[in-house]
Amino acid sequence: MTNNHPLTLVAGGAGFIGSHLCAELLSRGHRVVCLDNLQTARPSNLQLLEGHPNFEFVEADIVNPLPREILYRTGQFDRVYNLACAASPPQYQADPEHTMLTCVVGTSNLLHLAEAAGARFLLTSTSEVYGDPEVHPQREDYRGWVNCTGPRACYDEGKRAAEALAFDFVRMKRAEVRVARIFNTYGPHMHPDDGRVVSNLICQALSGRDVTIYGDGMQTRSFCYVSDMVNGLIALMESDIDGLEPVNLGNPEERTVNELAQAIFALMDRPVTVTNLPLPVDDPRRRRPDISRAERLLNWRPTMPLVQGLARTFAWFAEELGEASEREVA
Ligand code: UDP
Repeated sequence: MTNNHPLTLVAGGAGFIGSHLCAELLSRGHRVVCLDNLQTARPSNLQLLEGHPNFEFVEADIVNPLPREILYRTGQFDRVYNLACAASPPQYQADPEHTMLTCVVGTSNLLHLAEAAGARFLLTSTSEVYGDPEVHPQREDYRGWVNCTGPRACYDEGKRAAEALAFDFVRMKRAEVRVARIFNTYGPHMHPDDGRVVSNLICQALSGRDVTIYGDGMQTRSFCYVSDMVNGLIALMESDIDGLEPVNLGNPEERTVNELAQAIFALMDRPVTVTNLPLPVDDPRRRRPDISRAERLLNWRPTMPLVQGLARTFAWFAEELGEASEREVA
């Protein structure tokens, strides 16, 4: 690593959004240290980054005290991004205690690092802080309708607590903090077994399995392409809006799950069969970000149309799954 560029820590940098963020920061001339426990990451995400001279990987879990490889150069970090947490419902529910601790203890460990370093800190929070919202679209001042005893609580409440902690650091002038509330994001580098709707539907369709639609498919989400999300995260980190304001980042175009499925089926050259499965407990019925704050403060809005973003994601998965089945045959 050369020494004359800003040093950025990306916790969760081997994950889906994290790996794109690392690549973009490297292309903008940052030195990047990626900290990841590899719990939900795809190892090949790292292989794409590891050849870069300004990239370094440290395997560690932010729930534990930060490792020596990070602590010995505390004073060198300018920016700390926290993207470290399992984020799809099946994955964050697999070990709910670990999810909660990752959100709270992990964020605390990274905030202490940012404080000691004098670095700016960005927390990736989530649209899940709004729960199953009664207000639509969701603005940042809506306080949410979250079930604190339900199966999503380890993540929703964990992120709400992480936000509380981050904003206390701001109030006490202990660190400069930015909080992004990320809405559904998709694109290349998603884990095929991630369990989220875009990856599930594409992988099922490509491998000739039944496509699983939960409930009647009339629930809505708003899908943001990953490069738009990464640009939003960097714009937020680099903006001068230090203060007590979280910022929604997501695509405000709302689609039903059925509409998403139709857009994916249109990319297939053979018919697809659908199985309807029960709607998961506490599955939000509607979700769409109000992004006027991000537009106003960051001059940011997503640019990738869904059809184009899905086509790119589909092509990437087709190659990825093709290579995986070739490896199995060999
Ligand atoms: N979903 C679905 N089929 C799947 C996976 C998810 O119909 O194979 C639905 C899920 O019930 C939810 C929506 O798609 O209503 C988005 O789910 P996802 O897990 O991607 O994200 P989140 O619920 O966290 O928004």
